[in-house]
Amino acid sequence: MITTSLPLPVQSPGSSHSLTVHRFGTPGARPQVYIQAALHADEIPGMLCAVHLRERLTAIEADGAIRGEIVLVPVANPLGLGQTVLGHAIGRFALGDGGNFNRDFPDLEPGTADRVRDRLGSDPDANVALVRAAMTEELAAWPAATPVAVLKKTLVGLALGADLVLDLHCDAEGAMHLYTLPTSGEVFAPLGAWLGSTATLVAEVSGGDPFDEVLSRPWVSLAARFPHIPLPLASHSVTVELRGQADVDHTLARTDAAAIIAFLRNVGALAGTPPALPEQPGIVARLDQSETLTAPHAGIVVFRAAAGDMISAGDPVADIVDPLTGAISTVVAASSGILFARNSTRFATPGKRLGKIAGNGSRRSGKLLGL
Ligand SMILES: [Zn+2]
Repeated sequence: MITTSLPLPVQSPGSSHSLTVHRFGTPGARPQVYIQAALHADEIPGMLCAVHLRERLTAIEADGAIRGEIVLVPVANPLGLGQTVLGHAIGRFALGDGGNFNRDFPDLEPGTADRVRDRLGSDPDANVALVRAAMTEELAAWPAATPVAVLKKTLVGLALGADLVLDLHCDAEGAMHLYTLPTSGEVFAPLGAWLGSTATLVAEVSGGDPFDEVLSRPWVSLAARFPHIPLPLASHSVTVELRGQADVDHTLARTDAAAIIAFLRNVGALAGTPPALPEQPGIVARLDQSETLTAPHAGIVVFRAAAGDMISAGDPVADIVDPLTGAISTVVAASSGILFARNSTRFATPGKRLGKIAGNGSRRSGKLLGL
């Protein structure tokens, strides 16, 4: 394992932040897999999973059994990890400007297309190398003035050359689930099976330019833009939601790390045979057909369904109890599917998001992800 430390801009005199990067295997070997944890800095399950992954990968490397290259960033957001307000960790949004740490990554596709338009040829491997180089140039030209922007630019730079990217997150309360592009669903189906994922949510464009999407979507867009050029999808990325924020547990983290190791073996990044693929229990659902349940008015939230439950249209999901009168409004599902995430607060304001169902809901458009 080679560990490097990448400095981030000094926020104030006397303070410093840096990104720690662990590399396993031979630099430049393929497949290259990039794994990061806790971009939303208050989502800790991925961070513990990364600890167990580091232990496993260190042992595997000592056995000479790493074939590709693994890049592991166990704390992807040191800036957010340092944010607390009155005892509460604030890791999803930057306190400076309110921006979501997993939104507004640079869309490198248009500029990359301009750079490669007249240089693509008939050799797919040469085209992939050309596009990767152009994306690197495009990223270098992306202006990053603030520490948060530099952090985002650095993370994209670390992941840009990878064949596979795993971004480890979690929900407030949740069952294991994944987000990826439709074109990458098949690639990550074995990972979902080993992790015991309940649902894989797919969208061509989810809105907001989250980290995973800006790494893989350019390849899909470029292939569509240049349909007569052989250009394979050279980067597949996935956001892994490791259940809920409180699901921080050695057993879970060890199990999740083992699932990721199995996936790394399956794609040939590690030597060895992965365990038999469990039957995929989860569903694949379109993100734009997922349903967000909201509170009709203020009140105490009493859930009547657990994360991971199969829900049918019309089923009660939560009661909203008026604490002054005792009156109860029951929030029912409009669609059928899996309740894959719930809010962790137990008092709702009007319109508060309570939970999400992956299933057959009405088509939505615009920004499909939450705040
Ligand atoms: Zn997250």
